[in-house]
Amino acid sequence: MEGHKIYEGKAKILFDMGDPDTLVQHFKDDATAFNAQKKGTISHKGAINCQLSAHLFGILEQEGIPTHFVNRTGPVDMTVRRLSMVALEVVLRNRFAGSLAKRLGQPEGGALPMPVLEWYYKRDDLGDPMVNRDHIRVLELAGEETLAAVERLGRKTNAILARVFAQKGIVLVDMKLEFGVDSKGRVLLGDEISPDTCRFWDAKTGEKMDKDRFRRDLGQIEEHYQELFRRVVGHEPEF
Ligand code: ADP
Ligand code: UDP
Repeated sequence: MEGHKIYEGKAKILFDMGDPDTLVQHFKDDATAFNAQKKGTISHKGAINCQLSAHLFGILEQEGIPTHFVNRTGPVDMTVRRLSMVALEVVLRNRFAGSLAKRLGQPEGGALPMPVLEWYYKRDDLGDPMVNRDHIRVLELAGEETLAAVERLGRKTNAILARVFAQKGIVLVDMKLEFGVDSKGRVLLGDEISPDTCRFWDAKTGEKMDKDRFRRDLGQIEEHYQELFRRVVGHEPEF
C-alpha cells in the first residue's frame, strides 16, 4: 500500500494518499473484543467487512443517506471522504441483546417496541462509556445541529438496513454507527457496517452471524461471516 499511514486502529488502517479530501480505509483480519482484552484474527474478515460495507453504503446512498464511501480499490481497501469524526458511537437497537439485555435485566432476543438509540463516548481509555445528550453538550462532543443530523441519519439508516436484512431472512438486532463532518461541513456516515459492528441473527434459526461468535467462542466464525455475505450480497466475497 502506497501512501502515508495516518492511523492504525483495532480493525482498520487509514492511509493518506495525497488527496486532501479522501483517505484509503484498509480492513484487517484482526479482531478484538471486550475493550481489546480479547484478541485474535478471523481469516478473510477484512475482505468480507470491506466488501459488505461497500455494498451497504451503496444501498444507503441510493436511499438518501450521505456516506463517506467513494469506491473500492481492492478486496480490503476503499477510498472514503476524509472526515473529522464525531467522538461518539451511535448504537441503534431493534431487539434486546448484549449490554442492553444485561443492563436492563431482559432476556436476549425480545423485540423492542421501538428502535432504541444510545450514545457512547468514543474513548478507549475509558472503555467507551454510555453518555446522554447533556454529557455530550458538557463535553462539547458535537454541536446541536450536528447531533440532530446524526440522530436523524442514524435512525433512518437503521430503518433502511433492518428492511434490507429482513428481505434476506436476517434480523438486524443492533448496530454501531460512526459519523463525521467533511470539509464542506456536511455530516456523513463513516467507518464500516459489518458483522464486527452489527448483530445479525438468522430469522428462522436464530443462529448468530456476527462477532458474538468470536466474543462468546461459538466457533465457525469465518463460515458465518461468509454465509452472511453471500445471503446479503448474492455472490462470494473476493479474497
Ligand atoms: P478503532 O479506532 O476503534 O480501533 P478502527 O480500527 O476501525 O477502530 O479504526 C478506524 C478509525 O477510522 C476509527 O477511529 C474511525 O472513527 C475512523 N474513521 C472512519 N471513517 C473515517 C473517515 N472517513 N475519515 C476519518 N476517519 C475515519
Ligand atoms: N459495538 C461496536 N463497537 C463497540 C461497541 C459495540 O461495534 O465498541 C456494536 C456491537 O457489535 C453491537 C452493538 O454495537 O452490534 C451494541 O453493542 P452492545 O452495547 O450490546 O455491546 P457489547 O455486547 O459489545 O458489550
